[in-house]
Amino acid sequence: MPPSSYATTPGILWAPWRGAYLRQSSRRQCIFCDAVKRGPRGDRASQVVYRGREVFAILNRYPYNNGHLMIVPYRHVGQLHQVRASEHQELWEVITLMTEQLTGLLHPQGFNIGVNMGRAAGAGIRGHLHFHLVPRWFGDTNFITTTGRTKVISESLKELHRRLTARLASR
Ligand SMILES: [Zn+2]
Repeated sequence: MPPSSYATTPGILWAPWRGAYLRQSSRRQCIFCDAVKRGPRGDRASQVVYRGREVFAILNRYPYNNGHLMIVPYRHVGQLHQVRASEHQELWEVITLMTEQLTGLLHPQGFNIGVNMGRAAGAGIRGHLHFHLVPRWFGDTNFITTTGRTKVISESLKELHRRLTARLASR
Protein backbone atom coordinates (compact mmCIF):
# COMPACT_ATOMS: atom_id res chain seq x y z
CA MET A 1 0.00 0.00 0.00
CA PRO A 2 1.40 3.44 -0.80
CA PRO A 3 2.26 5.80 2.06
CA SER A 4 -0.62 8.07 1.13
CA SER A 5 -3.02 5.35 2.24
CA TYR A 6 -1.80 5.80 5.78
CA ALA A 7 -1.59 9.54 5.71
CA THR A 8 -5.11 10.00 6.97
CA THR A 9 -4.99 7.17 9.50
CA PRO A 10 -4.34 8.43 13.01
CA GLY A 11 -2.97 6.04 15.59
CA ILE A 12 0.32 4.54 16.64
CA LEU A 13 3.05 5.80 14.38
CA TRP A 14 4.31 3.30 11.82
CA ALA A 15 2.37 0.36 13.23
CA PRO A 16 0.87 -0.48 9.83
CA TRP A 17 4.31 -0.71 8.26
CA ARG A 18 5.91 -3.01 10.74
CA GLY A 19 3.81 -6.14 10.73
CA ALA A 20 5.93 -7.84 8.07
CA TYR A 21 9.03 -7.43 10.20
CA LEU A 22 7.40 -8.66 13.37
CA ARG A 23 6.85 -12.04 11.81
CA GLN A 24 10.55 -12.52 11.14
CA SER A 25 12.68 -14.06 13.82
CA SER A 26 14.67 -17.15 12.84
CA ARG A 27 17.73 -17.23 10.62
CA ARG A 28 15.71 -19.09 8.01
CA GLN A 29 13.31 -16.16 7.67
CA CYS A 30 15.81 -13.40 8.32
CA ILE A 31 15.79 -10.55 5.80
CA PHE A 32 19.39 -9.68 6.69
CA CYS A 33 20.66 -13.23 6.14
CA ASP A 34 18.64 -13.34 2.89
CA ALA A 35 20.32 -10.14 1.68
CA VAL A 36 23.76 -11.52 2.58
CA LYS A 37 23.03 -14.84 0.83
CA ARG A 38 21.76 -13.16 -2.33
CA GLY A 39 25.13 -11.48 -2.78
CA PRO A 40 26.05 -8.14 -4.35
CA ARG A 41 24.04 -8.86 -7.51
CA GLY A 42 20.89 -8.79 -5.45
CA ASP A 43 21.75 -5.58 -3.64
CA ARG A 44 19.37 -3.41 -5.62
CA ALA A 45 16.45 -5.73 -4.89
CA SER A 46 17.53 -6.17 -1.26
CA GLN A 47 18.15 -2.41 -0.87
CA VAL A 48 21.69 -3.04 0.37
CA VAL A 49 23.68 0.16 -0.10
CA TYR A 50 27.07 -0.88 1.26
CA ARG A 51 29.05 -4.06 1.88
CA GLY A 52 32.04 -3.89 4.18
CA ARG A 53 34.32 -6.64 5.50
CA GLU A 54 32.02 -7.91 8.28
CA VAL A 55 29.21 -5.36 8.22
CA PHE A 56 26.75 -4.04 5.67
CA ALA A 57 24.19 -1.25 5.38
CA ILE A 58 20.65 -1.66 4.10
CA LEU A 59 17.73 0.72 3.60
CA ASN A 60 14.77 0.16 5.88
CA ARG A 61 11.72 -0.70 3.78
CA TYR A 62 9.48 0.57 6.54
CA PRO A 63 11.35 3.78 7.31
CA TYR A 64 10.77 6.07 10.26
CA ASN A 65 12.05 8.85 8.04
CA ASN A 66 13.61 9.39 4.63
CA GLY A 67 17.09 7.85 4.57
CA HIS A 68 16.48 5.40 7.43
CA LEU A 69 19.32 2.87 7.24
CA MET A 70 20.19 -0.23 9.21
CA ILE A 71 23.82 -1.17 9.85
CA VAL A 72 24.16 -4.92 10.32
CA PRO A 73 26.85 -7.56 10.95
CA TYR A 74 26.84 -10.32 8.30
CA ARG A 75 26.67 -12.93 11.06
CA HIS A 76 23.26 -13.82 12.50
CA VAL A 77 23.85 -12.80 16.12
CA GLY A 78 21.25 -11.20 18.35
CA GLN A 79 23.14 -9.88 21.35
CA LEU A 80 25.80 -7.20 21.71
CA HIS A 81 28.08 -9.57 23.62
CA GLN A 82 28.06 -11.95 20.65
CA VAL A 83 29.49 -9.29 18.37
CA ARG A 84 33.24 -9.63 17.81
CA ALA A 85 35.59 -6.74 18.52
CA SER A 86 36.35 -6.35 14.81
CA GLU A 87 32.62 -6.25 14.04
CA HIS A 88 31.99 -3.67 16.77
CA GLN A 89 34.69 -1.49 15.30
CA GLU A 90 33.37 -1.77 11.77
CA LEU A 91 29.78 -1.17 12.90
CA TRP A 92 30.82 2.25 14.20
CA GLU A 93 32.97 2.92 11.15
CA VAL A 94 30.02 2.24 8.84
CA ILE A 95 27.59 4.21 11.03
CA THR A 96 30.03 7.12 10.86
CA LEU A 97 30.47 6.75 7.10
CA MET A 98 26.71 6.65 6.56
CA THR A 99 26.06 9.74 8.68
CA GLU A 100 28.58 11.56 6.46
CA GLN A 101 27.05 10.25 3.25
CA LEU A 102 23.46 10.92 4.28
CA THR A 103 24.44 14.39 5.43
CA GLY A 104 25.89 15.12 2.00
CA LEU A 105 22.90 13.65 0.21
CA LEU A 106 19.86 14.61 2.25
CA HIS A 107 21.16 17.41 4.51
CA PRO A 108 19.44 16.24 7.70
CA GLN A 109 19.70 18.42 10.79
CA GLY A 110 20.33 15.51 13.14
CA PHE A 111 20.38 11.72 13.51
CA ASN A 112 18.94 9.12 15.83
CA ILE A 113 21.23 6.12 16.20
CA GLY A 114 20.05 3.16 18.19
CA VAL A 115 19.42 -0.51 18.79
CA ASN A 116 16.22 -2.22 19.85
CA MET A 117 17.33 -5.42 21.57
CA GLY A 118 14.59 -7.95 22.24
CA ARG A 119 10.86 -8.01 21.70
CA ALA A 120 10.04 -5.88 24.75
CA ALA A 121 12.28 -3.14 23.35
CA GLY A 122 10.42 -3.13 20.08
CA ALA A 123 12.87 -5.10 17.94
CA GLY A 124 11.13 -5.83 14.66
CA ILE A 125 13.70 -8.31 13.43
CA ARG A 126 14.74 -10.36 16.41
CA GLY A 127 17.80 -12.58 16.43
CA HIS A 128 19.90 -10.48 14.07
CA LEU A 129 21.30 -7.39 15.72
CA HIS A 130 21.07 -4.17 13.72
CA PHE A 131 21.70 -0.50 14.36
CA HIS A 132 19.14 2.03 13.17
CA LEU A 133 20.37 5.25 11.67
CA VAL A 134 17.52 7.71 11.23
CA PRO A 135 18.06 11.18 9.73
CA ARG A 136 16.07 13.90 11.46
CA TRP A 137 14.85 17.33 10.44
CA PHE A 138 13.42 20.11 12.56
CA GLY A 139 9.68 19.79 12.48
CA ASP A 140 9.44 16.09 11.68
CA THR A 141 8.62 15.22 15.30
CA ASN A 142 6.24 18.14 15.59
CA PHE A 143 4.46 17.04 12.46
CA ILE A 144 4.04 13.53 13.83
CA THR A 145 2.98 14.44 17.34
CA THR A 146 0.61 17.23 16.40
CA THR A 147 -1.21 15.43 13.65
CA GLY A 148 -0.82 11.82 14.75
CA ARG A 149 -0.40 10.89 11.14
CA THR A 150 2.20 8.83 9.37
CA LYS A 151 4.74 11.01 7.64
CA VAL A 152 4.93 10.69 3.90
CA ILE A 153 8.36 9.56 2.79
CA SER A 154 9.41 12.15 0.28
CA GLU A 155 11.83 10.08 -1.78
CA SER A 156 11.20 6.60 -3.10
CA LEU A 157 13.45 3.86 -1.77
CA LYS A 158 14.64 2.91 -5.27
CA GLU A 159 15.71 6.45 -6.02
CA LEU A 160 17.41 6.81 -2.66
CA HIS A 161 19.22 3.48 -3.20
CA ARG A 162 20.44 4.69 -6.60
CA ARG A 163 21.66 8.04 -5.30
CA LEU A 164 23.31 6.68 -2.16
CA THR A 165 25.14 3.80 -3.89
CA ALA A 166 26.34 6.17 -6.63
CA ARG A 167 27.64 8.53 -4.00
CA LEU A 168 29.40 5.74 -2.10
CA ALA A 169 30.94 4.40 -5.31
CA SER A 170 32.39 7.80 -6.19
CA ARG A 171 34.12 8.34 -2.85
ZN1 LIG B 1 20.07 -13.13 10.14
